[in-house]
Amino acid sequence: MGRAFWIEKRYTLGVVNPVSRLCRVAILSAQEGAEALRQELTVAENATGWLMVLEGQEKPVLPSGDILLVLYDAGAEAVWPWLLEDGLCTEKLPLPMNLSSQNAPMLADWVRRIGEIHLEKISLRRLVDRFEERIKKDSGRVRMADLLQEANHRLQEQSVRDGLTGIPNRRRFEEHFDYMWGRSAGEGAPIALILIDIDFFKKLNDSLGHQEGDRCLQEVARKLESVVDGEDDLVARYGGEEFVVLLWNCDRPKAAEMAEKLRVGVRECAINHPQHPSGIVTISLGVSCEIPSLISSAEDFLHQADSLLYSAKESGRDCWKMAEEVNP
Ligand code: GH3
Ligand code: MG
Ligand code: MG
Repeated sequence: MGRAFWIEKRYTLGVVNPVSRLCRVAILSAQEGAEALRQELTVAENATGWLMVLEGQEKPVLPSGDILLVLYDAGAEAVWPWLLEDGLCTEKLPLPMNLSSQNAPMLADWVRRIGEIHLEKISLRRLVDRFEERIKKDSGRVRMADLLQEANHRLQEQSVRDGLTGIPNRRRFEEHFDYMWGRSAGEGAPIALILIDIDFFKKLNDSLGHQEGDRCLQEVARKLESVVDGEDDLVARYGGEEFVVLLWNCDRPKAAEMAEKLRVGVRECAINHPQHPSGIVTISLGVSCEIPSLISSAEDFLHQADSLLYSAKESGRDCWKMAEEVNP
């Protein structure tokens, strides 16, 4: 199993990140509410980077790896006959006949989730394909059964998202970090890691209850995701009320700027916190930034961000601390 893991590490990691593929959405409906749905999905399109709302009603041409979700209503086949073609649409979703603009946000959210799940499946399918390729080339070194078991296990679990906030979880972060660290070292590009902890979160739970605490976590997660917009960047829930941001090709000034944007962004949400001296929710941040070298370790890098987060707490919270420059 150890060998399988090694191979998994070498071969999964650029695969799982879905950024290079698109989830295309076609809306085949002439109802009034369809326009509201199109607008909602266009907002989601800008926010996700992987969603794409198709404008035309021609039969779409899909580059390999892209997926197609079709939202249609009764009679759509008559106007858009390609809807009946087998294998073209990844998912066909019937729309209600009384589609109203009030339904639009919920439907858009639904489409977004379905898109995410499909992209994830495609990533994992590719992973299995790569394992199979590897086995063909190198069947003496690894046991096929082990590899397939590992790959199928991953295909089933889909456990890379945090249930409460919907953002990537710690596991996804660890995979992405591993990959990004190697890539940064290979390309000589700087990488930045920001650990974030909500200030006095326990007091928020104590004063307003766990449900409000949960809502706060969701809102903070949404804000962090909206501020971090690089294609290869990642925001994940690290645990409890801690989040982690990974920034690819990000030097010290950019990392500092991002930390400040995140801090200010969360303040601007103005989430009520009666037991906080400011009356609203704030975060503290620890920022590590460097170009990985042969002698630097990813673990130390993470540990450094953690220590800096603690020094931000000690300096009074609602602030960020950055690591010293290693090789100025
Ligand atoms: P500090 O400013 O020093 O970070 O103080 P703090 O109160 O934020 O830190 P502490 O680690 O003492 O408390 C974290 C709290 O987060 C304790 C725990 O109950 C709460 N928590 C962890 N996960 C969840 C969750 O999923 N939902 C809710 N509502 N609370 C959570
Ligand atoms: Mg904490
Ligand atoms: Mg905290």
